[in-house]
Amino acid sequence: MQILVLNSGSSSLKFALLDPVSGDVRLSGLAERLGQEEASIRLDRFAGGERERSEESLGGGAHTEAVARVLAELDALGLRADVAAVGHRVVHGGETFNAPALITPEVEAVIRACIPLAPLHNPANLAGIEAARAAFPELPHVAVFDTAFHQTMRPVAYRYAVPEEWYTHYGVRRYGFHGTSHQYVAGQAVRMLGLNPGRHGLIVAHLGNGCSVTSVQDGKSRDTSMGMTPLEGLVMGTRSGNVDPSLVEYMVREAGMTVQEVTGALNKESGLLGLSGLSNDMRELEEAARNGHAGAQLAIDKFVYRLAQTIASYAVGLHRWDALVFTGGIGENSSYIRALTMERLGSLGLVPDERANESTVRGEQGVISREGWVTAVVVSTNEELMIARQTAELVKV
Ligand code: ADP
Repeated sequence: MQILVLNSGSSSLKFALLDPVSGDVRLSGLAERLGQEEASIRLDRFAGGERERSEESLGGGAHTEAVARVLAELDALGLRADVAAVGHRVVHGGETFNAPALITPEVEAVIRACIPLAPLHNPANLAGIEAARAAFPELPHVAVFDTAFHQTMRPVAYRYAVPEEWYTHYGVRRYGFHGTSHQYVAGQAVRMLGLNPGRHGLIVAHLGNGCSVTSVQDGKSRDTSMGMTPLEGLVMGTRSGNVDPSLVEYMVREAGMTVQEVTGALNKESGLLGLSGLSNDMRELEEAARNGHAGAQLAIDKFVYRLAQTIASYAVGLHRWDALVFTGGIGENSSYIRALTMERLGSLGLVPDERANESTVRGEQGVISREGWVTAVVVSTNEELMIARQTAELVKV
């Protein structure tokens, strides 16, 4: 039995066909530049430990054509009959969903109603759902929400100190994102460290292009650094994270920008890219900093300072703090960023293990600290597997 997992962006579609129990992937790939002339699709087929890759044009096709190509590939590989359900990553489920949901017309309507909260993501997710339902009408389709895991936050964590009507009438509150990754990684860490599933405290740092920290108590999200949108919180690849909201009006007045332009710059031209003036890619920044690039060094230092501050502040919201968990492209690979972060957290009882930290990269997982109050551990995230598992669980296949 296999689950087809789809993660659909406005001009891209990531897909994977995998076994929700073993996690074995049979087919995966990425369609890009959808809706444009150069639309293309990459297919990776896995069999007997070997990977066979091909890339082809989609002839200007969009989500429908990409899904049709995936379907044709499943037929060609003789795998179509094995597909039991389709799991869709959906970014925003508002306050309605605290768990995955079988996609019905009512569920689709709620995803549509959440468009104002995620104007770029939810329409793209709906386009993927529509294309997949047309291609696989006989299969159950499940929506797995980025926001769902964080619905266990309490008002003290999710409310902003703004007029009440902004919340009750307009839904202005903190929702949090990366929930699928945080939930998966937290579960893995509990198993790896032999913690009690019903009594533990973790702080998970998901550090990729987007970055967020979540505190997890007894399997439940207590607080998370992304807010109403993914702009809040940490310094990220191109996002500023927390800034004084008054700077929007200031830049409109002083620089003659529109509100949309300022918001666009905070999302796409800020963060590591804005600070360094060089790149949003941590690998490139580490290299440049080693060669004496002052902007790259400042970007790294600010990234780490904000990260360590956030982690430390989340420790106060937990009953107990057992472990700090690193994941995502930076968290899983950058021993430098991890070392700098752990160094700053020394006063909270974290004792880094330099050698273990250095060697835990490129898919290696495990503990990177010595005995202390808190254990630091690296866990590889796997959102596709989590979506496949939750989908299989919901449709009971
Ligand atoms: P996304 O959020 O798009 O899924 P990833 O989780 O793949 O992104 O993370 C991308 C980030 O991980 C980039 O900043 C990249 O530079 C960083 N990264 C990947 N490998 C390394 C490495 N060896 N050292 C430092 N940073 C790395």
